[in-house]
Order: sequence, then structure tokens, then C-alpha cells
Amino acid sequence: MGMNRRSFLRLSAAGGIASSIPYRVATAASDPTAQVKSYVRLGRTELKIADISFGASRLRFGEENLVRYALDRGVNYIDTAESYTGGASEEVIGNAIKGRRDEVYIATKAAVGSRDSAESIMDRLEESLRRLQTDHVEIFFNHAVNDVSRLKNPEWFEFVERAKTQGKIRYTGMSGHGGYLINCVNYAVDEDMFDVMLLAHNFGEDPAFYEKFTRAFDFVANQTGLPEAMARAKARDIGIVAMKVLRGARLNDMRPFEQGRHTYAQAAFKWTLRMDTTDAAVISMTSPELIDEYLGASGETEVTAYDFELLEQYARLTDMTYCRHACNDCEGSCPYEVPISDVLRTRMYAVDYQDLPFARSEYAQLATDASPCLNCDGSPCRNACSHGLNIAKLCGPTHVMLS
Ligand code: SF4
Ligand code: SF4
Repeated sequence: MGMNRRSFLRLSAAGGIASSIPYRVATAASDPTAQVKSYVRLGRTELKIADISFGASRLRFGEENLVRYALDRGVNYIDTAESYTGGASEEVIGNAIKGRRDEVYIATKAAVGSRDSAESIMDRLEESLRRLQTDHVEIFFNHAVNDVSRLKNPEWFEFVERAKTQGKIRYTGMSGHGGYLINCVNYAVDEDMFDVMLLAHNFGEDPAFYEKFTRAFDFVANQTGLPEAMARAKARDIGIVAMKVLRGARLNDMRPFEQGRHTYAQAAFKWTLRMDTTDAAVISMTSPELIDEYLGASGETEVTAYDFELLEQYARLTDMTYCRHACNDCEGSCPYEVPISDVLRTRMYAVDYQDLPFARSEYAQLATDASPCLNCDGSPCRNACSHGLNIAKLCGPTHVMLS
């Protein structure tokens, strides 16, 4: 039997769970009939997954019912990683799917470096399987790939062969939302390395979208090469899942502009799902209301004039603070090698998602932080952002906030 929102809340209250599920974003509209309405073929894997699926990057202890709520609404694909919420994400999923493993496909990830050994990658996969309480995952990703040298590690291929032979993984993939994303996608396509790609992609990366209102204000789309790289991947029948679809997810800021049941988030999903280059999208699902709202866009691919108005409004709202993470145009501008786009990605988690613990955890994983910004006058990076972001003004406070 499916669990509706009321029974979820009753169950949560009875188990003391409600207080552990922060309702981080107020919703303007919630559709109690929301269900997955479309399952899509994920490229050559032939897996049929919900077009809007469960991103578990912010899943915390005690949120098992949130996962079950999504499954009851038809979500059958969960995207997690060894690093998400310090391993809690995988543990919670493991608890939530007990007795329901055959209802769901699981994808997990490990950031594999250029020198990692096959043994060490296998150890990390086995740790993930232990936390997930399963003997296999459907897809294992090389996580947050930002350097082609990471894709050239021969140990990865040895690991994949052994893990597949042992039945621990069925398919492989790469995820990316950082610098050199296009280079990495193109390399992986040329080498035919993966079955699936999880890529940061949203309406803000479509020049055609911006052409609709460039007369109103002047800026350019970012990563104009990404759709082309994605099309090359599609031509190889690689499954493509989009992430960062909400471009920062400042949903509360959009509530005053939304009417009825049509929300900015739904417009952003529709934009993504209508693209030939994208099979499905994953999104952090952090409350039952948001799950209902997101699934309201399942199966919908027509972007209406009103949807475009919402997208345009959102772009206006966020244009001077949203880092187009993988554009990397500012690369080399900082003499102290601050990883600007990664720092600004963690800022997005804190300021836009309003999830400080997650932002701090991601910031702590950066190899280099933004501490040099505190003693720098900002002149080296002053005009480095091709999208007009004031890098110094954003990076310094991010370090203070997250360190
Ligand atoms: S403010 Fe200075 S240290 Fe910070 S990113 Fe810019 S150039 Fe680098
Ligand atoms: S700060 Fe600007 S130039 Fe640098 S990655 Fe972000 S959007 Fe691109």
C-alpha cells in the first residue's frame, strides 16, 4: 500500500521522526496525487527509471520514511555516494529499503583518483555495499570527475572487470559538476568508458533559452559546449541523468511569483526532461511536500510560456551569484590556486539550499580552501568571471561561513 502524506506525518510523529526531518523549504503548492508518471530507458543499461528520481546527497539519519515515501510514489532510482552526509545517506537507504530491494535501482559513487589502486576502489565499493545492506548496486560512478587524468587510471578498468564478475556492480558511470566537465565527457565518450553519465545541467546552459530575453538584460549562457558533448554521449546510447536542475534551488525566493500549482521547480524539470540529450533527473528530496511538488512535473515535457516566465524570473534573481560550476572561465586567475567554482558550489549548498551541514562537509573535502581570500585585495580575479560574478566578494565570506 502506498503511504500518503498524512500517514507519513502520523508515522513520523509517532516515531519521533518529524523533528528530524527539517522542512527546509516552504512550498507554495503540494499535489497529494503526485506520482511518478513516466519511466524512461536509461540508455544502454535498459533500466527503466523514474524520470524524476531520488537524489540522496542530503539524506540524514532518521530519514528512512522520506525514502519510503518516495518509493511509495513510484520513485525507483536512488542516487547516493560514499561521501554523502558522511556515509549516513547510504546507511539510511539501506535501512529504508529492507525488504524492498527489488523495487529500487541504486547508484553510488566514489571519487577515484588517477593513482588509486583496484584494491582500494574495491574496498570502498564494499564499504558502500555494507552501509547499503545489499550485495550489489546497479550503477557505480566515478564521482565528481574534474580531470581527464582521473579517467586514464588503468586500475579503474581492472576494478570494473572484477566487480562485474563478482556481481557487485552491473553498470558504470561518471558524474561531473566541476571544471573540465566537457573535456571529461568527450574523453569518456571517445574511449566508450561508461554506461551512464550524471551531469550538472539546467536551463541556464541553453543559449536558446537566453536568446528569448537577451534584450531584457545582457549575459551569455555558460557551457555552450555541454549540450554537444551530451549529444555525442547519447549517440553512443549512454544514459544521461541531469543534476543541479534547479540551478541553486532558491525555491522560497520564487514563491511570490508562482501561481496555483505551477512552480518554478516544475518548470525547471520540464525544461530538462524535454531535452533529447537527457533521460532523467535526480534532485535532493528533503521533505514529503517537495517530493509531491517535484513529482508534479513527472511526465511533463511541454514548457509553457508561463514556465518560461518563471525560469526567466529565477535567472534574473540568481544571475550575479550563481556560479556556472563547470564553465571554469576563471581558471588560472587566482595566484593562490583557490578552486573558485568548487568553493562557490559549496556556497550554493549553504546559501541557496540553506543546508549548512552539507555545505561544510563538502567544503571540508576540497583539497584547497578559500582562506587566501581573507588576505587578498581581490585584484587578481576581479574581472575573471565571464558571467560577472564578484569572485572575491563571494569566496572570502564562503570560507568564513564554512570553515
Ligand atoms: S580573492 Fe584573491 S585569493 Fe581569493 S580567489 Fe580572488 S585572487 Fe584568489
Ligand atoms: S566564477 Fe564565473 S567564471 Fe568562474 S566557474 Fe563560476 S561562473 Fe565560471
